[in-house]
Amino acid sequence: MVVKTDTPKMKAFVMLGIGGTGFMEKPIPTLGPNDAIIKTTAALVCTSDCHLVAGTIGERTNLTLGHEAVGIVHKVGLAVTTVKKGQRVAVNAITPCYRCHACQSGHTSQCNGLLGGWKMSHTKDGVFAEYFHVNNADPNLAPIPDSVSDEAACYITDMMSTGFKGIEEARIPMGGTVAIFAQGPVGLMATAAARLLGAATIIAVDKRPNRLELSKHYGADIILNFTEVDPDEEILDITGGVGVDASLEAIGSQMALDSCVRVTRPGGTIVNLGIHSDGPTIDILNTPRGIEMKALTVRSVLCPGGKERMQRLLRLIDMKRVDPTKLTTHRFKFHELENAFEMMRTKDDDIIKPLIVF
Ligand code: ZN
Repeated sequence: MVVKTDTPKMKAFVMLGIGGTGFMEKPIPTLGPNDAIIKTTAALVCTSDCHLVAGTIGERTNLTLGHEAVGIVHKVGLAVTTVKKGQRVAVNAITPCYRCHACQSGHTSQCNGLLGGWKMSHTKDGVFAEYFHVNNADPNLAPIPDSVSDEAACYITDMMSTGFKGIEEARIPMGGTVAIFAQGPVGLMATAAARLLGAATIIAVDKRPNRLELSKHYGADIILNFTEVDPDEEILDITGGVGVDASLEAIGSQMALDSCVRVTRPGGTIVNLGIHSDGPTIDILNTPRGIEMKALTVRSVLCPGGKERMQRLLRLIDMKRVDPTKLTTHRFKFHELENAFEMMRTKDDDIIKPLIVF
């Protein structure tokens, strides 16, 4: 009888518990018939990784962090038919089962219940490891065209998918107007999407000059620094007192959401993209220009996943409609992930996105 003594091990960057992170050794994940194991080649740190460690979804022990990554297929389960070992693939932050009631009803991000499509670094180990596991590999792995870099492909896994969804849900008419509150990576991708979908007046609001500058590159027509001007007054002024067709909250701030309510025209749409981690409630403004009887539509969005969506986003990069790599302000090796994480938490050195190379 052969006794197997050593399971192959890998390095992983984990949430040790609320407030704590570090590296540890873990076994390389094993797979079921529908799954795949990916050898990580590049990843991005997300502000929501920092929220997670701060305790927004409760205690986790030794959970591998990260949900934005690309890699090379290392192993596939017996039932997987559309990807092969050695292929470069992107994996969305959201990996739905495509079988449950929520998935069948078209709400794949809410697979099997509240936030259930978000599995990696939420209900199972994430991507900040030398290898990671993907459930339901066929509908969740998107092969990356040779002409698209690992770095660019990483952005489709959350930043582009989320920011673009914000604009898709805003349903701005061709030639319409939009205000996007905060130009972090998601807000900047929403700005790019607003331009692609035909908005004619795109107003970007932030306080950091480097982000406002980049928003012009991605298609903002007007930039407003809210530390210098009152953005609400400016936006109403720009739209002749009417307000914008749609507004996006892309940071998770009550102040920004209040602004969205004030500056959106009657009958317009507000889309919430930010994570409001300040308390158990979100207030809806009801003073003059508030929400009461203004016929507003308010939508909230969680990053959509799936191969078909990712292939469309990859096509936009491939056809040079958008270059998300302008968001990369810093680069780190995997073993330097702790530094990247800390910078993302403090937003030091005007960081927008740190790329992690494995
Ligand atoms: Zn993310």
